Amino acid sequence: MKYARAERGKYLAAALFSVLNKIFDIAPEALIGIAVDTVVKRDNSLLAGFGWNVEQQLIALGVATFFIWVFESYTEYLYSIKWRNLAQSLQHRLRLDTYQHVQNLDMAYFEDKSTGNLLSILNDDINQLERFLEDGVNQIIQVFFSSIIIAAIFFFIAPVIAVFAVLPIPFILLGAFYFQGRLAPRFLEVRTKAGILGGRLANNISGIFTIKSFTAENYELKKIEEESAEYRAANAKAIRLSSMVTPVIRIAVLAGFLSTLLYGGFKTIHGEIGVGAFSVLVFLTQRLLWPLTRLADITVLYQRAMASIARIFDLLHTPIGIEAGGERIAKVDGAIRFENIRFSYGSGGPVLENISFEIPAGTTAAFVGTTGSGKTTLVKLLMRFYHPTSGKIVLDGRDIQGLNLEDLRKNIGLVSQDVFLFHGTVAENIAYAKPQESREKIIEAAKLAEAHDFIIEMPEGYDTLVGERGQKLSGGQRQRLAIARAILKNPRILVLDEATSAVDNETEMAIQKSLKKIVLGRTTIMIAHRLSTIRNADQIFVMERGQIVEHGSHQELLATGGIYSGLWKLQTGEIDL
Ligand code: ADP
Repeated sequence: MKYARAERGKYLAAALFSVLNKIFDIAPEALIGIAVDTVVKRDNSLLAGFGWNVEQQLIALGVATFFIWVFESYTEYLYSIKWRNLAQSLQHRLRLDTYQHVQNLDMAYFEDKSTGNLLSILNDDINQLERFLEDGVNQIIQVFFSSIIIAAIFFFIAPVIAVFAVLPIPFILLGAFYFQGRLAPRFLEVRTKAGILGGRLANNISGIFTIKSFTAENYELKKIEEESAEYRAANAKAIRLSSMVTPVIRIAVLAGFLSTLLYGGFKTIHGEIGVGAFSVLVFLTQRLLWPLTRLADITVLYQRAMASIARIFDLLHTPIGIEAGGERIAKVDGAIRFENIRFSYGSGGPVLENISFEIPAGTTAAFVGTTGSGKTTLVKLLMRFYHPTSGKIVLDGRDIQGLNLEDLRKNIGLVSQDVFLFHGTVAENIAYAKPQESREKIIEAAKLAEAHDFIIEMPEGYDTLVGERGQKLSGGQRQRLAIARAILKNPRILVLDEATSAVDNETEMAIQKSLKKIVLGRTTIMIAHRLSTIRNADQIFVMERGQIVEHGSHQELLATGGIYSGLWKLQTGEIDL
């Protein structure tokens, strides 16, 4: 309803066409009665009142019938266009809102949820709505109006029979409500199973390389088969119940129809009501009660849509943990300070403890340490993907918690461990932060990242498509595109998290040379395993199990002879394994 309100005028117009269509749809029934009346009573008929003879009466009926049918068809065309377009526009807005909300959810949310399930909500569940909106709403309006109009005519012609005819209506409605309540959980289960199945499908397609290399095709097929079977079983339960709705309601309709037929028939035989009136009654009963069988379909469509709505709204109402708003910052200097940071992911144990350090603006700090010691987590906290459990992170003297999220992230260029490229050309991927940037600037950035040479060797150079997730490129090539992307972004703070781990030594040396130019005047955070890449950093932090255990320049750390100097000796080959 909230979404419909924005287009209230259009909904009213659509409803109006539905009502008009219903009126034109019922009218022929009355015409049949009048026609019977005309041929039976001839000069004493209803239309004879206009002074017409029988032939004239029939012609008048013909003309009326013609126009009524034309109007019925025309209004059907109109309401059908209106409702279907309204359904599409509502879906469109809901889709955008849901996607926007999903985009703003925190990383922690995505770690817990399956991509496939999110996809099935954003795609299937939203698309499910049109099945109800395109026709269901129209049907509800039409059934409601036809019931009122026909019941009114009924009571006017034959009040006693009318009572018999409307008698089943409360039972029909009760039946519909009864089924509503029972269908809801079944359809929700269907949608949930569809989400689980979707999740596995999406996961498998993106992991197809691993599946093939482990020849796990049969194993995966079995899993899919199990989940598809569960989906089928959930559907079977829903089908069993939803298929009962129409027959049950039809029996109630039958009761009403029989009573009109018999009671009205006897009255007609005994001359208490005319033949014309009787035929109208029989038709009307059918017209009154028959559409109510549609309630069955509507019930099913409605519950199906509600199951999807429940999933969509569940997603839409997921609270956003990291608020985007806050103090705007136009330009940052890049002085970073971590004060007593403590952090754990979800309910797990602490990943970072007692982290305090300071990186003056424009200097380079390097973090080294065993995998899992928390280096990347530091970066994620700096970019506010997560909240620290305690302590604060200060940028240029301001707690980043209070800063505008977009401004903060705009000022940080991140080259992360796993590079994600989007389906598109090489140039588009490099210019991801600045889509309007000129080709010259893109090439310049690529040269600095040592990417230019391999790019021009590709079939279409900078216009070569990289494939989904950049899978047509090697790991080292992807990394260099990511570096070029960060260089083009030209941020005040540059974060290189294992940025050159997948390139060969020679290329790495070349990139190091470029980086010397790039990091000039920028605050740079480097995370690296190969110590040769960070030896020139202004300060080096050695991390272990979430804590900083050593700190100093390369020379200072070598002199102290601790963990760092041990690692250095290992890597330079001074220690034989
Ligand atoms: P590093 O970058 O030093 O290799 P990370 O910062 O990536 O280490 O990880 C530190 C620890 O946090 C590891 O033990 C890892 O298992 C855990 N961890 C990382 N990301 C998550 C996450 N999203 N949820 C739960 N635990 C995580």
